[in-house]
Amino acid sequence: MATLFDVTPVEALERVVHCLDRANDSGFKAKAFTRALEVVRGMSAAELAERAAGNTLTQLEGIGDSSAKVIVQALSGDTTYLDDLDRKTGISMSPGGAAYRAALRGDCHMHSRWSDGGASVEAMARTALSLGHEYIVLTDHSARLTIAHGLDRHRLLDQLGDVALLNERLAPFRILTGMEVDILEDGSLDLDDDLLGELDVVVASVHSKLRMDSDPMTVRMLAAVSSPHVDVLGHCTGRLIGKRPESTFDADVVFGACASSRTAVELNCRPERLDPPADLLNRAIELGCFFAINSDAHATGQLEWQPFGCDTASQHAVPLERIINTWSADELLAWTGRSNLASH
Ligand SMILES: [Zn+2]
Ligand SMILES: [Zn+2]
Repeated sequence: MATLFDVTPVEALERVVHCLDRANDSGFKAKAFTRALEVVRGMSAAELAERAAGNTLTQLEGIGDSSAKVIVQALSGDTTYLDDLDRKTGISMSPGGAAYRAALRGDCHMHSRWSDGGASVEAMARTALSLGHEYIVLTDHSARLTIAHGLDRHRLLDQLGDVALLNERLAPFRILTGMEVDILEDGSLDLDDDLLGELDVVVASVHSKLRMDSDPMTVRMLAAVSSPHVDVLGHCTGRLIGKRPESTFDADVVFGACASSRTAVELNCRPERLDPPADLLNRAIELGCFFAINSDAHATGQLEWQPFGCDTASQHAVPLERIINTWSADELLAWTGRSNLASH
């Protein structure tokens, strides 16, 4: 993370947005700072300094009192606002959870501006790096999820090109390719087989018809997790705590198939999801499943949510060696079958 001194106004505003994201604050304040960030990005340093000195920042459309304060403080090397916000929005973790978090080397589920995320791939990668990770898996949505601006074949191919260029610049950090592929109603996947085979890590999730009966949902999920292309089952019950109930399915059948076809069960760290619930997680552990502790971040600040899943993993004593993102990128790729270890 940027050190909290000597930051430019843009960096200071980015940090504010990051902290509000990790506090899951998507309200007026977050929107106002995001807007201010856009305005400041479009200004020259000279104009910004002149307006700060002349106290005329708030005459600009999109710059309010709080944004102006952050800008003025950044220009004068004062970090009071940032320090305070940093303290208020820091994520705490149990000692048991901290041991899991310390073991994580990557994050296998996140979104960028390519679908419904709020940050660029590079910003997500750089933030993950600053959080101590060696790699991320970029998993934007597939085409069927139109509301999330999901990627069709052509946009995915464009993204793969961009990721290859970014990887050259960010090495040794690695952005592994992937997608959060929709599990369609019949259990088929929302992406062509050739591309599924090309991606490093594939997360498959149910996003539609979440209320279907248990029997057809079991058949649907079984088909998806049994696919040789699928590596992670995303947020398995689809619940949104307090808003949407869990989908129902035969856990023994679905998790049994996950264990035998080496599809990891995701511990989704989003605070409104925290999926799977306790009883299902216990069953998945008993059945011998692998796991992935994933942020499912849609903004840089949300990459800091892994501690929520780590706390859960600690409470349930998930075997550390079965958590796939405690492994190196090469070990992970060997497991997903996307690498030729002979080349290493
Ligand atoms: Zn999802
Ligand atoms: Zn997602």
